[in-house]
Amino acid sequence: GKGVAVFTSGGDSQGMNAAVRAVVRMGLYVGARVFFIKEGYQGMVDGGDHIQEANWSSVSGIIHKGGTVIGSARCTDFRQRDGRVKAAKNLIKRGITNLVVIGGDGSLTGANLFKQDWPSLLSLLVKNGEITEEEKAANSHLNIVGMVGSIDNDFCGTDMTIGTDSALHRIIEAVDAIAATAYSHQRCFILEVMGRHCGYLALVAALTSEADYVFIPENPPPENWGEKVCNKLKQERSMGQRLNIILVAEGAIDQQGDPITAEGVKKVIVDNLGFDTRITVLGHVQRGGSPSAFDRLLGCRMGAEAVLALMEATPETEPCVISLDGNQSVRVPLMGCVLKTQAVARAMQERKWDEAVTMRGRS
Ligand code: ADP
Repeated sequence: GKGVAVFTSGGDSQGMNAAVRAVVRMGLYVGARVFFIKEGYQGMVDGGDHIQEANWSSVSGIIHKGGTVIGSARCTDFRQRDGRVKAAKNLIKRGITNLVVIGGDGSLTGANLFKQDWPSLLSLLVKNGEITEEEKAANSHLNIVGMVGSIDNDFCGTDMTIGTDSALHRIIEAVDAIAATAYSHQRCFILEVMGRHCGYLALVAALTSEADYVFIPENPPPENWGEKVCNKLKQERSMGQRLNIILVAEGAIDQQGDPITAEGVKKVIVDNLGFDTRITVLGHVQRGGSPSAFDRLLGCRMGAEAVLALMEATPETEPCVISLDGNQSVRVPLMGCVLKTQAVARAMQERKWDEAVTMRGRS
């Protein structure tokens, strides 16, 4: 059967294990040989025990685990051609010419580059006597399918990334927990949530946890935001509320593009209202814990579709990512999505927020 390898790369997220499991089991079901590559691209470059053949039971009991059981890494070697030459050799020696990459836009960009490089990497390996002409001929095409694992939901081309829903669960559990203690002491709590340059987690968490105010990168508040926040908090208290909850996305910025931080918001509130105000930075708690049912199912569906895409690939097939479009898992061009994601990041930097939000919407 065809050789298929699956690996997780870049930042981890809940639901990656479900995706790995589905790739292994669907791969075996269709008669492929399936391999894990441990520690992302680093394992591909290092080879040896990092590349292991998988069987049906090697993915038992992982669907409920957070993170990624096969490890993830940031790998500088793979950015160099030398590293990619080693990686190519390690794959060819095991008959692997089909890759499933689960990661963010960096990992997917690396995979695309690897495919573009593949013919010249093989030629170099033959020239150096590391592989034979026969091995080169038998492995001449590399097929790539990607899945986006990220809690941030910041990738263009898919409605949801694997891990976002679980991270939202962590955030609203935390907000609910804090609201109880805030109520007791009539406190104002400011929670900083992750999301890099995307406000999705903060916005949806705010809507679903009855927060009083939210700061997100895509919608910088008016210049007089301090006054607006204080008026809102005063109004809430005057209506009998005993607590306030404010969410700040880690990428939140003001009209000048300067960061809005939890500390900055706290200062405004304490200076103007004198409320007992506390800050909680949720940090990596958001990436942990068990994956939600939604993320488990998303990983299962995407993983199964990824294997089918590889099995149907021809030498002309371009790399794709499996995306969620409405309720369907579909294949979309990998590089198109990566380029669009990068264009959104640029638009955000240039403070063209409407453009960024429109581009990020469904393609
Ligand atoms: P993410 O996939 O979450 O965006 P990174 O941007 O850190 O995370 O990328 C993960 C890994 O993918 C990097 O450590 C590197 O090994 C590989 N990678 C990223 N960009 C490239 C690139 N342009 N060329 C080759 N490899 C890359």
